[in-house]
Amino acid sequence: MSLKYDFTGKVALITGSSSGIGAATAQLFAKSGANVVVTGRNADAVAKVAKQCSVVSPKQLPALEVVGDLTNDEDCNRLIETTVQTFGKIDILVNNAGAGIMAPIDATDYMEKFSLALKTNLNSVVYMTHKCVPYLAKTRGNIINISSIASKKSGSTGSSPYCMSKAGINMFTKCMAAELGPKRIRVNAILPGAVDTNFMTIFDLPKDLIGQIYSNIGQKYPVGRVGQSQDIAYTVAYLASDSEAGFITGSIVVADGGDIVANVSYE
Ligand code: NDP
Repeated sequence: MSLKYDFTGKVALITGSSSGIGAATAQLFAKSGANVVVTGRNADAVAKVAKQCSVVSPKQLPALEVVGDLTNDEDCNRLIETTVQTFGKIDILVNNAGAGIMAPIDATDYMEKFSLALKTNLNSVVYMTHKCVPYLAKTRGNIINISSIASKKSGSTGSSPYCMSKAGINMFTKCMAAELGPKRIRVNAILPGAVDTNFMTIFDLPKDLIGQIYSNIGQKYPVGRVGQSQDIAYTVAYLASDSEAGFITGSIVVADGGDIVANVSYE
């Protein structure tokens, strides 16, 4: 029997929900009865996922579509304001948007890449949390931050901007869990291993090569495969559910097919 969640009456804002893990998470919340906010920079992708959410919603609830760039504070403000104007509240914030921005330390554009990685992957999480806390305090809601096993593993050349941005999320999660406890807001993070999404498109590699890379990594994983977006969406739903995970806050939950424990190398 599949575990079913009931998020009827809840409002879930999932950043980076135009693709991959965020899209699967938005669809799972919609399927579980929530009002969902679908957002990203690509308007067509946002519209497509929003439509899918409405189709799987038990009452065909329309998803709110907000197109915006999270490195821009005004876009973040508009995302939050539109959500509250439309649905009246926020119960669940999933800080998922992110990108694999990398550069070796001696690259001429290292500092630009480093700054963009922090802005995209870490500052956006901090800003969205900062602005959403007053709403989450009213609903006694919760926050799930999508970090990465890259926050724990180093070693591949050029990964420092991305790894550092994700390591920052882990500490921010722990600090917020302690600080927001009195407001009854739970805060947790998930560290996915390799998940087959559009994440690798930033590296501009041929599609079949990307498929080959995922296949090679999957063979090294103890579970024998890389992750699918739903694997992480189910973990988000579990942590977001007060009835199942109401005692869990400040946790850094690893969902990586055994990558870390098997010390899998990507070389
Ligand atoms: P995708 O590339 O499929 O999705 C990334 C999402 O983030 C898209 O919806 C994209 O929207 C959004 N996004 C990126 N930059 C911005 C921005 N500046 N403003 C607004 N939205 C933005 O990748 P994943 O689903 O794999 O990634 C989701 C999260 O999971 C990321 O934080 C990633 O670091 C993390 N992760 C992924 C792993 C993997 O192997 N796939 C492993 C570990 C962690 P749009 O393009 O429309 O702007």
